[in-house]
Amino acid sequence: MSDGRDAAPAGVAILGSTGSIGTTALRVLDRHRDRFRVAALTAFTNGALLASQAAAHDAAFVGLVGDSEHCGPGWSAGEGCLLEAATRGDVDVVLNAVVGAAGLGATIAALESGKRVALANKESLVMGGDLVLDAARRGRGELVPVDSEHSAILQCIAGRPAREVRRLVLTASGGPFRAWSSARLAEATLADALQHPTWQMGRKITVDSATLANKALEVIEAHYLFGVPYDRIDVVVHPQSVVHSFVEFVDGSVLAQLGVPSMELPILYALTHPDRIGDSGVPAFDPVALSPLTFEAVRRVDFPCLDLGIAAGRAGGVAPAVFNAANEQAVALFLEGTIRFADISRAIDRALTDLGGAPAGSRDAILAADAAARRHVQEFFEC
Ligand code: NAD
Ligand code: MG
Repeated sequence: MSDGRDAAPAGVAILGSTGSIGTTALRVLDRHRDRFRVAALTAFTNGALLASQAAAHDAAFVGLVGDSEHCGPGWSAGEGCLLEAATRGDVDVVLNAVVGAAGLGATIAALESGKRVALANKESLVMGGDLVLDAARRGRGELVPVDSEHSAILQCIAGRPAREVRRLVLTASGGPFRAWSSARLAEATLADALQHPTWQMGRKITVDSATLANKALEVIEAHYLFGVPYDRIDVVVHPQSVVHSFVEFVDGSVLAQLGVPSMELPILYALTHPDRIGDSGVPAFDPVALSPLTFEAVRRVDFPCLDLGIAAGRAGGVAPAVFNAANEQAVALFLEGTIRFADISRAIDRALTDLGGAPAGSRDAILAADAAARRHVQEFFEC
């Protein structure tokens, strides 16, 4: 982005503006109205919050995807809203903060239109990695991560060539069940899973953090973003969520990026990368107050979603899309109270075994695999 002093403010579209990332982003943008203008906002069903956000930021485009009855005057309605917002001429940056596979079309369309995509919606990159990278190449779009781990890696790599990177080490908080025994884990409830120790997030990613499916999605996301093979991406548990990830270089030197656990930092960086602008949204960094910083090995047997997801990433083809969709469907059933915590990994495992072997040559193949995996999980629990 330009330094913004003389240039007109950059237009930002926020897809999923009523969610955890969306509302955090609006707080950040509110402090930087000289550099950024909110051009477009979309939400799924929360029309009331969307209306107040649109009024506060004077958004030119407002879209409600899932509830046409509660649209305000002049709003757009239906799934097409995401594509419209993502490709508008007055939009320079698309913050994709939609949850789940529903974000794929907008990620691709924005990149094809040459936008910067500030990507919170990791699911779109996991399910359609090659398609997304290809869209960026064809449209000269730019993909910049919002996920704190990937933002950390981007900041540590700082433009150095891929040949200088030996290994990425993603940190994981370990979620609410990090220290639970295997026996206790079998009894984990929805309320337990929603008590994340360090981050306030939407319900789906909070459950993903409890199963470690989120970290599997992030390993796949890192593979595509940074072009690093899976055998050079590791995960370590770091309960304080202060070190956001490590990059080990070929000379053995290791860089890490640290910060208080607030998504305001990676959201702002995704907007300004590679530049930095002054901001005082989060408390000052105090290493003594944040001490101790500790690291543990992942309990891979007790949290099988991590290795299931990494195996899907390595397998390639439609496997990452199957992993993602099976996880989304199983988490939806868990959030409804229909299945137990341990059922999530069982359902993903079965879906990957039965459906994960096909190639992913096209968007249709990926969408078909996504739909098949959702049906598979549904039927797995019906019989
Ligand atoms: P959330 O549930 O709080 O918000 C989701 C947003 O997407 C809402 O505005 C909702 O209206 C919209 N939405 C939901 N379903 C939709 C659909 N089918 N079509 C269009 N819009 C839809 O979720 P969140 O925690 O803000 O997470 C959003 C994304 O960011 C996820 O991909 C998540 O993995 C990622 N992420 C979140 C955090 C975090 O701290 N919350 C951190 C890193 C990455
Ligand atoms: Mg993350």
